[in-house]
Amino acid sequence: MKGGGSGRGAPRVFLLAGTSEARALAARLAQAGVDATASLAGRTSAPAPLALPTRVGGFGGVEGLKRYLADNRVTHVVDATHPFAAQMSANASAACAALGLPLIAYARAPWRPEPEDRWIEVADNAAAVAALGAEPRRVFLTIGRQGIADFRAAPQHDYVLRVIEAPDPNDLPPNCALIFARGPFARAEETALMQERRVEVVVSKNSGGALTYAKIEAARALALPVVMIAPPAREGVALAHDAEAVMAFLRA
Ligand code: NAP
Repeated sequence: MKGGGSGRGAPRVFLLAGTSEARALAARLAQAGVDATASLAGRTSAPAPLALPTRVGGFGGVEGLKRYLADNRVTHVVDATHPFAAQMSANASAACAALGLPLIAYARAPWRPEPEDRWIEVADNAAAVAALGAEPRRVFLTIGRQGIADFRAAPQHDYVLRVIEAPDPNDLPPNCALIFARGPFARAEETALMQERRVEVVVSKNSGGALTYAKIEAARALALPVVMIAPPAREGVALAHDAEAVMAFLRA
């Protein structure tokens, strides 16, 4: 797979990004001289730069994405969005199927519980809300900004919500303290935070990867339950858990 040019036969890769895995893959593609462009949703106002030319913002759904891929003569699509970015992944799958373009999803493997973990595994936010129960509890919400409004259905709890950027105040449950921080976090830091805030239960997406795993280790050390939300299924798309598999797919 030689880089340079996008002439007939040379792969032209489109990388749907927004994760640390995508950033690492962008660097690898750039280093290999692959003709590739990355794409960010534009949710974060100052995203860490990528090693590839990068476009920012939505496409306007499947039709817009199809247009973009065709106009830019893309030959391969890598979906390295977050495992919970279900809409973008579904759109990529539909657009690539319609255009007959090869697509690979690149995502970190989900975490698996250790014997000492006290996980309550649930399918989605509504099930996470139900799993918190009727009794008021001190809840550490580590699911980002999106979907926070679902927790308004359980106003009896005291929430500590950690986010990178300010959420819409209308989305917040009534008793909700905000912490602004961007990972990675250290285990000692996470343990201290949970103790200081007298956290009784943690709510987390099962995002996998090392960057945010410290909270799971801290909850384990403190014997706290974790309501663990499973990633949405990616149906019918080739899935790679490591960059080498993506490179092999692009070479094939
Ligand atoms: P989403 O719900 O699946 O996507 C919503 C819409 O945002 C998409 O339909 C698309 O708009 C646009 N979009 C999403 N990713 C894009 C990308 N890489 N490039 C261009 N447009 C994109 O996604 P999300 O959960 O809002 O996540 C947005 C971004 O944040 C993703 O890049 C994801 O990797 C990253 N992220 C998400 C999470 C999470 O927990 N969901 C966590 C960390 C990082 P159009 O329909 O207009 O094309």
